[in-house]
Amino acid sequence: MKNILSLLAFLVTITACAQDRFAKVQIESTEVSENTFMLTGSGGNIMIAIDKEKVVMIDDQFAPLSDKIKDAIGEITEYPIAYLINTHHHGDHTGGNGNFNSKETTIVAHVNVKERLIAEGKEENFIPEMTLEEELELQLPTQTCLLIHVHNAHTDGDTFIYFIEENVVHMGDVFFNARYPYIDLKSGGSIDGYIIAQQRVIETINKDTKIIPGHGTLASYEDLVNNIEMLTDIKGKIEYLIRTGVSKEDIIKDETITAVYDEQGFGSGFINSERFRTTIYESLKK
Ligand SMILES: [Zn+2]
Repeated sequence: MKNILSLLAFLVTITACAQDRFAKVQIESTEVSENTFMLTGSGGNIMIAIDKEKVVMIDDQFAPLSDKIKDAIGEITEYPIAYLINTHHHGDHTGGNGNFNSKETTIVAHVNVKERLIAEGKEENFIPEMTLEEELELQLPTQTCLLIHVHNAHTDGDTFIYFIEENVVHMGDVFFNARYPYIDLKSGGSIDGYIIAQQRVIETINKDTKIIPGHGTLASYEDLVNNIEMLTDIKGKIEYLIRTGVSKEDIIKDETITAVYDEQGFGSGFINSERFRTTIYESLKK
């Protein structure tokens, strides 16, 4: 009995800590272009695009933040959200789906996102209602919103979203600005797919495009080019070491592989350099 009570007390503490963590989060809104905004809080970056009475939202962070996010959107526009696009299935990007979905809102995502959310047992109002396989064009009153699926990059269900006239792209977790990315190998992600996906974005946008990354600060074309160079360089070094017979343990320990980027702070985020070397090694060995 005593054990059960202490277990209960422990669980209550954990729940309180989780709530407390979100209680302190503030949603910050930044104007990206005339009609688009980036919202940050905790979890993936959110984009809001307004085109007359049509509002498009991309990603929605964690469910406990939905009210705060709604307040921040309310400062920008009074119109309802017409489309809520999920860049991929992870909970720090889709956690608020159920709270934002309504009869005015259509949730849009890659078909694999829908399948993964269903497999996770999410409720019906959480599940994407419109899906894409390769590409989808949403025609808004004055703007074109282009959704492009990229294969096996961060996951197997990534989409980047490009607002052509506004010249703003949201890349989801196919871009962590100035940080080593998290590549979810268990959900179909891969280093090769990740680099190809970033190159696909480069081919789609232009040098003046503003880039909203999944995590990190608002980015430029040049920031993305630097990220591709970093990934290509580290991948090439690890590929070479594998070919010359160096063991997994030695590759993971070898700080010289990532040193130049570690100095620039790439390992200071969610993924440190050792974990990143491990991910690349495992992805190349798959
Ligand atoms: Zn993610």
